[in-house]
Amino acid sequence: MTFSIHGLAVARGIAIGRAVLVASSRVDVAHYFIEPSQVESEIDRVRRGRNAVVDELHRLQQTVAQLGPKDASHELKALLDVHLMLLQDEEMVEGVKHWIRDRLYNAEWALTTQLEIIARQFDEMEDAYLRERKSDVEQITEKVLRAMQGQLTTGLPLAATTARKVASSELQLEDTDVPLVLVAHEISPSDMLQFKQGVFAGFVTDVGGKTSHTAIVARSMDIPAVVGARTASQLVRQDDWIIIDGDAGVVIVDPSPIILAEYTYKQRQLELDRGRLARLLGTAAVTLDGEKVELLANIEMPEDALVAVKAGAAGVGLFRSEFLFMGRLGHLPDEEEQYQAYRRAVEGMGGLPVTIRTVDIGADKPMDSTFLDGSHLNPALGLRAIRWSLADPSMFLTQLRAILRAAAHGPVKMLIPMLAHLSEIRQTVALVEQARAELRREGQAFGDVALGAMIEIPAAALMLKTFLRYFDYLSLGTNDLIQYTLAIDRADESVAHLYDPLHPAVLRLVADTIAECRAQGKEVSVCGEMAGDTGMTRLLLGLGLRSFSMHPAQILAVKQEVLRADTSRLAPWAQAVLAHEEPGSLLAD
Ligand code: PEP
Ligand code: MG
Repeated sequence: MTFSIHGLAVARGIAIGRAVLVASSRVDVAHYFIEPSQVESEIDRVRRGRNAVVDELHRLQQTVAQLGPKDASHELKALLDVHLMLLQDEEMVEGVKHWIRDRLYNAEWALTTQLEIIARQFDEMEDAYLRERKSDVEQITEKVLRAMQGQLTTGLPLAATTARKVASSELQLEDTDVPLVLVAHEISPSDMLQFKQGVFAGFVTDVGGKTSHTAIVARSMDIPAVVGARTASQLVRQDDWIIIDGDAGVVIVDPSPIILAEYTYKQRQLELDRGRLARLLGTAAVTLDGEKVELLANIEMPEDALVAVKAGAAGVGLFRSEFLFMGRLGHLPDEEEQYQAYRRAVEGMGGLPVTIRTVDIGADKPMDSTFLDGSHLNPALGLRAIRWSLADPSMFLTQLRAILRAAAHGPVKMLIPMLAHLSEIRQTVALVEQARAELRREGQAFGDVALGAMIEIPAAALMLKTFLRYFDYLSLGTNDLIQYTLAIDRADESVAHLYDPLHPAVLRLVADTIAECRAQGKEVSVCGEMAGDTGMTRLLLGLGLRSFSMHPAQILAVKQEVLRADTSRLAPWAQAVLAHEEPGSLLAD
């Protein structure tokens, strides 16, 4: 039966494919595809995890038996028996093997997928006692997952390496060319990176806002995505056919042939539109009145540099270096590893400038989902970004040294996130100087870097003169600037309707930052999602912005807007928008 689910439109286009569910689990697990040669060792990992739990339950049984009949509860004994029985359950064991063998899921993913299937069967049972057994299955699966956590994985390490590209034909679906779409409650940034290599044609998540990192990475992959779809991961089943309409924020499950035909047609039209845009690749980004505009790329991994070059980016305006730090169970990349990664990005850009932002770990980008960093109270306001870096100066110095060394191989700019205090600015500047002095003393090659600050906290936007005394350029992080100005958690779908880039207060801070930089002859760019939103291009041009940094996939569409714009006419209009109570009403035309 066809039904639709509504969420937030975050990455454009249409995807049609079979659902691959990533079940949520109370134990955080990684999701990745294994090589066919690793199938047996993955099955063995599950077996060893299960055996460890069986041994533990046997030990408990003995303890219970030793207690006198008075203390030994029958219920406890019965419970242990049930758990042991469930561990041997044929459906569970065979199901897990199926996901590993036929779909090449890593062991933990296979286990949680099978758990989800069995849990749903329990939910549908009429008998209340049997229905309650669901929590027993959940408990023992959790135990096995925990037992496996101590084991060495034979699969791909997390974000440290590039995930292998898995063609759908390797997944042994009946129809080998069928595209796959991922449906999950939530996808961690490090899992997202694993999936970045093109396995999936689209994403759907229950949670998340328009500028949550799941949405940002989906946009960077240029595939349709819907977030904030609330109960999607419960309503969709493994292998269901689904359509993701990334423009409308709608997911259609089990579409009828007529709906399918309609969306297949729309999909083709979108491909034609893209083909037309591709003609702008070699065209310079200059407005009708001759203003040159710099269109830069946002990247997450060094390999993305090639995508940026292909999209015609004039450089990298934001390299989110934190993605190198994620999913490593707290083992941070050392100076050499970071240097090599930054160097690859710099060399990949072939002489075009690369802006490397120092690590922005925290909030909805935890270093590791299993790594407790103490920022859980109010993560967006906690130990995040530069605060995290300054909390461990030697770790920060390692990154600063690596960036300076990479600058010996091409033009590099350094960018500092989340600054708000003069003391943070001073400490940062002093540490950059210390890193330079150390490298000089050691005779290590390093390059000159311009030092920039992100303006993403209202406090920073209200003390621009101070910032401009210390920094060579500024970059507006509008994703966070909106979040902190309006007190709206950018990852929370329940307040997503209030996350408004056109709020007069947000526009005022953006406009003042651009104006102050221009007045002082300093460079300024926007690297938040606003820069890639074609609905905002004319306004930003009118406010004087000449440098935009966005996902490579958005560059051509923004360029088209630039080519049609006349800044001499847009400037007075932008001032009128700024002065209006409801700026959005002037943008609608
Ligand atoms: C921003 O806040 O706008 C930004 C570019 O940084 P991030 O999205 O990585 O927080
Ligand atoms: Mg930010």
